[in-house]
This record gives sequence, structure tokens and C-alpha cells, in this order.
Amino acid sequence: MLTNTEYPNLVVLDHPLIRHKLTLLRDVRTTTRDFRQLVSEIAALMAYEATKDLPLEEVEIETPLERMGGALIAGKKLTLVPILRAGLGMVEGISALIPSARVGHIGLYRDHDTLNPVDYYFKIPAGEQDRAFFVLDPMLATGGSAVAAVTALQRTGARRIRFLCLVAAPEGVRNMLAHHAEVPIFAAALDRGLDARGYIRPGLGDAGDRLFGTGRV
Ligand code: URA
Repeated sequence: MLTNTEYPNLVVLDHPLIRHKLTLLRDVRTTTRDFRQLVSEIAALMAYEATKDLPLEEVEIETPLERMGGALIAGKKLTLVPILRAGLGMVEGISALIPSARVGHIGLYRDHDTLNPVDYYFKIPAGEQDRAFFVLDPMLATGGSAVAAVTALQRTGARRIRFLCLVAAPEGVRNMLAHHAEVPIFAAALDRGLDARGYIRPGLGDAGDRLFGTGRV
């Protein structure tokens, strides 16, 4: 786990398993099927780290032999919020680890005139003030969608928000720091930066296309 004084909002999860799987994910030869599987597996490994300080509540249970004190995750069910469409690829892996997690969805597009992100779909479970939210998007590029998604969630009263991505660009991390410094970002890697077309370099290409097999060569 790496923290960076330049980006106090960023935690890079550099576990050897995550680095190994991310390298396979980046490889241009990786098939759609393997890409999907790897995104899921990396997201699950990241969720393990990103949940390590969730509050617990003490409970009394009975084993077959005696009563004992145990601990369960406190509060309302954790909620995953994938940003459509690529964020969907991260849901399955995290849900395997946290089967009771709720899933909200945020769909965003960029308005051609204003260039501002506009949400065309927004559905999250009630009880926003008390829930922990994990906003999911494999790529944190300019940060425009991430900032808009967090702003939209906060408008509903959500306060406990974390952002999980696989690959982050410094531009996106800085944008989040400027607008939502209170939101921790968990990433599997911090890459060099964006190219003229807005792709993260070295990156992994278009995450949505590689996940859903919609790339046109
Ligand atoms: N979105 C992607 O899918 N890839 C990038 O490199 C940047 C944004």
C-alpha cells in the first residue's frame, strides 16, 4: 500500500497479486473473457484493502459449544455505485466478497456545448446519510465523471464515499483533490498521464470496449 504526499487523497494498492493481474490486464493480447475476469479479481482484492477500516459492532452469538462475543460490520449495507458502463465490470468481484452489498448506478454523458458531465441515470438505495458508498470506475482519467458522480451522490446526503479505480492518471487525482479532497481514492496503479485523446498512458486502452468486446479495430 503506497501513500503519496503529493496526492494525500490517493492510496495505491500495490499488492503483488494486484500488480500481477494488472500487468495481464494491460496486455493488448488479453482476450475479452480474461479481461472481464481480471477486472473482477482485481476489484475484489482492492475491496479487501479498501474495507479494512469499516466500523464493527460487537455481537453475542452462540457456537455449538458456548456463548461468545463476535463482531459484525456495523450500519446499513455497503453500497457499490458503478459509473456506467465500465464500472459495471468491478461489481461482480466485490459482490463475491460482500454479497449483501447494495448496488446503485450512475450514468453520465458529456454535454457537447458546455462539456460538463450530465447524469442521465441515477438510482441509489435510500438511507444515503448512513451508508458507506464505493464509487467504481476502472479508469480515473480527467476525473470529470468521478467529480460529477461524487457531487451527485453528495446532493442526496451521502457522506461516506470512497472511489475505487484500477488505473489513475495524475490529472484525475488532482481534479478530485480540488473538488472532493474528502473522498479517498483507491487505485491499483498511478500512471504517467493523459495523451491528447484523453487516454491514460501507458494505461490499458478503452476499459469499456475491452470489457464488453465493443472495440473497432
Ligand atoms: N477511459 C478509458 O477507458 N481509458 C482511458 O485510458 C481513459 C478513459
